[in-house]
Amino acid sequence: MERKVRVRFAPSPTGPLHIGGVRTALYNYLFARKHGGDMILRIEDTDSRRFVPGAEEYINDSLSWLGIGIDEGVKEGGAYGPYKQSERRDIYRKYTRQLLDDGKAYIAFDTPEELEAARQEIPNFQYDASTRGRMRNSLAMDPEEVKRLMDEGAQYVVRIKIEPDQEVVVNDLIRGEVKVNSNILDDKVLYKSTDDLPTYHLANIVDDHLMEVSHVIRGEEWLPSAPLHVLLYRALGWEDTMPQFVHLPLLLKPVGNGKLSKRDGDKLGFPVFPLEWHDPKSGEVSSGYREKGYLPEAVVNFLALLGWNPGDDSEVMDMPTLIDKFSFDHCSKSGAKFDFKKGIWFNHEYLMAAPDSELAELFRPILEEKGISGYSDDYIARAIGMVKGRANLIPDLWDQGDFFFIAPTQYAEKDVKKRWSAQTPAIMEELIGVLEGIEDMSSANAEKIVLDWIASKGYHLGNVMNAFRLAVVGACRGPHMFDITELMPREEVVKRIRRAIETIPAPAE
Ligand code: GLU
Repeated sequence: MERKVRVRFAPSPTGPLHIGGVRTALYNYLFARKHGGDMILRIEDTDSRRFVPGAEEYINDSLSWLGIGIDEGVKEGGAYGPYKQSERRDIYRKYTRQLLDDGKAYIAFDTPEELEAARQEIPNFQYDASTRGRMRNSLAMDPEEVKRLMDEGAQYVVRIKIEPDQEVVVNDLIRGEVKVNSNILDDKVLYKSTDDLPTYHLANIVDDHLMEVSHVIRGEEWLPSAPLHVLLYRALGWEDTMPQFVHLPLLLKPVGNGKLSKRDGDKLGFPVFPLEWHDPKSGEVSSGYREKGYLPEAVVNFLALLGWNPGDDSEVMDMPTLIDKFSFDHCSKSGAKFDFKKGIWFNHEYLMAAPDSELAELFRPILEEKGISGYSDDYIARAIGMVKGRANLIPDLWDQGDFFFIAPTQYAEKDVKKRWSAQTPAIMEELIGVLEGIEDMSSANAEKIVLDWIASKGYHLGNVMNAFRLAVVGACRGPHMFDITELMPREEVVKRIRRAIETIPAPAE
């Protein structure tokens, strides 16, 4: 029988969710939705030393900003909870016991100093079948001694007992069969008595099993752990329901070789986090896609194509389209270069397609920050509609359309030189009269009247129009002049022309 698709995104709350983690969450989500399955969010917080306050909330906020929906999780609830590993201690205790009783795991008392001494003494030391006989563990020690130490409450760990010389096969949907010999694996710690918590490996396997996870979709950095995980499924007697593994290709630096790092982002000026992150300890602020002015749909689209392609040349795809086309058949084994410029390109595409009223919502905070108020939603939206063709990120809308909200206080020198002659002030005075006489300021009508006036006077069209633009915008840039004056209140236009006449020094004749 086909298994119901159940996938999980299982981050550890050890800091802000990295953009690579977001890509993992997205692929899990796309796969789940594609197959009518469930998407679980499990918080893997068994390493209390690495816990960072705010990280869990950050994960939730990031996924919800991006529209990556969760069916079961800490917030959502569900039939397989709790979804936070620190709340599942009893469960892990039970399976630790089972492994010990079945002889699949053993107790070890070695102190960090003793382990260090073994590392010094034995080249390439690994805790395994070849070395465990000389260490302090329940396989090597007298049972009486073990009992005494346990009764005394000595600290211990539980290690998996890996049998030597076995072939371990990891079946991966992207990589095919990955085979390793168990001799290269060490007897990893599964549980630590100091904090009465399992390690990542045990908790991860137990939860995937109990939560009936069908596919483990995660970053390539977890591939080296997969053989151990296969052995753990075996040791627990769960081999038949072992999930299908899918290890996603690495995200690589935009230039050069190696894994994408925060430093690459700092150097080249792009975020590696979905949302801005304020480090609670250092106070350091790391930039986020949201705060930089990206649209979540664009980030999703961009990330989806880092390691996957739809099998055709479609690029701009919204979430439903991505879900429809998604499959691991078109995932690459090799790493994907993090082409952040492509991300900017996607954002431009999504800005162009977004309703101006929605962009106005996102733009308002920028106006507020600049202390600008009093503009209607409609005014803002129409201004944005005129300039967004030249914008990539939300703040670019300000760079392109600032003049809709503040009058120029300076005039571009180069344009003044070229377009503001000794005759200009008088012509601009005349223009004020023409504009004040127009009844219908709609773009086409105003244009016709102004151009007719210019022609009837025999003025130079380019010079007059550019001087007009200089007065209203402050430079020879911006959208169609009569579109601007259709939107901007006429008194404001007139005021700006007057100010230009008064402040731009007339050149010598
Ligand atoms: N807790 C691991 C992480 O932080 C999960 C790895 C996995 O998905 O198995 O990514």
